[in-house]
Amino acid sequence: MVVTGPAGSVSSSTLAGSTLEGREVTPTSLLKSFTKRRAHACPVCESRFAGFQPAHNRPAAKCPGCGSLERHRLAWLFLQRETDLFAGRPLSLLHAAPEPMLKKRFRALNHLEYLSIDIESPIADEKMDMTQLDLDDETFDCTYCSHVLEHIPDDRAAMGELYRILRPGGWGLLLVPILRETTYEDPAIVDPADRLEAFGQADHVRKYGRDFADRLQSVGFSVEEIPYAATLDRQTSARYGLDVKELVHFCRKPRAGGEEPGDASGVLESLRSPVRP
Ligand SMILES: [Zn+2]
Repeated sequence: MVVTGPAGSVSSSTLAGSTLEGREVTPTSLLKSFTKRRAHACPVCESRFAGFQPAHNRPAAKCPGCGSLERHRLAWLFLQRETDLFAGRPLSLLHAAPEPMLKKRFRALNHLEYLSIDIESPIADEKMDMTQLDLDDETFDCTYCSHVLEHIPDDRAAMGELYRILRPGGWGLLLVPILRETTYEDPAIVDPADRLEAFGQADHVRKYGRDFADRLQSVGFSVEEIPYAATLDRQTSARYGLDVKELVHFCRKPRAGGEEPGDASGVLESLRSPVRP
């Protein structure tokens, strides 16, 4: 029988000379096996395991613990490491189209006043149209919205609503699939099969390009486009199962008088120069 002590230490006296499925078991081989079984980790649910599961035609996308995908893990790492969301200061967060595993973690943060919204999802706290939020101006400190805007015909209206409900100095972390240099959309394409062919998914209404940041800026945001996974070392990326090509857009609502808020993402200061294309 395999015996592990505190913190996974292996008792060599117990194991010496034993075999496992016909193979000789030594402390070294057991340690290697143990390390391999815990080679990957999910920052969202904090579980460790041997590998990610296949999902969406990708061989290693999904966390076996909570179901997070690459973009969820990247966003969570970004929120943890680069924003003030976990600092313990009371904050209000609007979560658009809530992913269940993230909603659970946000809800567990006692200092967070949390609201999730969606036009149809049963797990959202409130049903709302992103282009007409039933929320007062300047009521939230931060917002998180991932892979939502590519589903919304009037995405500029939705961006404008996120801007409107943020307090001056507030920030938003926005993710969309960036697939080209310039955004491609055609409102005449409405049939799901045609949308699948044109935009890659039957319920997408465009393919965003690198000009996504321009749209966000057009509603007032100050925007940083950050290839966040690419700023992490290769081992960290592999460990957390990240897509190094994934971009995050960190958006800030300027304070009155145009002053840039400085407290939301101090660490980003050091990333700006090397990561900008
Ligand atoms: Zn997980």
